[in-house]
Amino acid sequence: MARVIDGRALARKLDERTAQVVAKLLDDRGIKPGLAVVLVGDDPASEIYVAHKVKACLRVGIESFKHRLPASVSQQDLLALVARLNHDPKVHGILVQVPLPRHIDPSAILGAIDPAKDVDGFHPVNVGRLSTGTGGLVPCTPLGVMMLLDSVVDEIKGMSAVVIGKSNIVGKPIAMLLLEREATVTVTHIATRGLPDIARQADIIIAAAGVPRLVRGFWVKAGAVVIDVGITRVSGASGERDILVGDIAIDEMNHAGAVTPVPGGVGPMTIACLLANTVKAAKESG
Ligand code: NAD
Repeated sequence: MARVIDGRALARKLDERTAQVVAKLLDDRGIKPGLAVVLVGDDPASEIYVAHKVKACLRVGIESFKHRLPASVSQQDLLALVARLNHDPKVHGILVQVPLPRHIDPSAILGAIDPAKDVDGFHPVNVGRLSTGTGGLVPCTPLGVMMLLDSVVDEIKGMSAVVIGKSNIVGKPIAMLLLEREATVTVTHIATRGLPDIARQADIIIAAAGVPRLVRGFWVKAGAVVIDVGITRVSGASGERDILVGDIAIDEMNHAGAVTPVPGGVGPMTIACLLANTVKAAKESG
């Protein structure tokens, strides 16, 4: 039976460490880390994500500032809010929840955030730092994935890793982090041919396609570590609640070395890493 990595337990441990740093920052330098969360429109999934993030801040002693704007807000007004938050000394991290309404260019907004407050790690300066291995703020989900891997793998160096998905927020940054640790990385995507055969060579598989049960048991070699980033909400049968489904067929993974569940794997680590990034930004401020 594959080991099931408990993302919730790992996230709790990280939160404890973050809470300690928060207390020390206040004691030593009088700084209370602050995270501004900007929510545009009323997308129900975004509302839930933002509520979780605000609640998580409370848990570790980070102050949160929620800014809610109507879907009709102009790009100019949103940029003006970002500019205010960039200059607000109480705000150390800024998160603009995506997706944004169609009339707003997300790259214009994310690019306007001060890179030092860019706790999502999406600003081109932080992307450049990540790809050159020169520090900066690292996107939360990829950071969480590396911590989950480190909890079960002694030495990533020299291992072969296959990343499924090449998005800017998940697949590419994970590939960069794995490369930095000297894994041999293959990035795959929707147009990749022969994906099952490629995946079967890997010591590590990171599934981030958003396709339920894409990664089948026969794609995975014995002992491989499989991290499931995918989350798809599937409607439950009549009267039943919706369920969250990952990208791996977890019931076919008995021969794997370790796997992450959905929910309870990458998701909790993403939020814990957001808090850790906010505290890092606060520590490096001033
Ligand atoms: P995206 O749609 O931007 O990118 C998906 C990638 O998967 C693309 O590169 C695409 O080429 C590839 N892909 C799609 N179908 C494929 C297939 N059949 N075979 C191989 N590759 C395929 O998505 P994203 O934003 O990178 O998110 C990916 C998944 O991760 C989604 O399910 C999303 O909900 C989830 N996610 C989870 C967290 C978390 O905290 N756990 C955070 C971010 C994203």
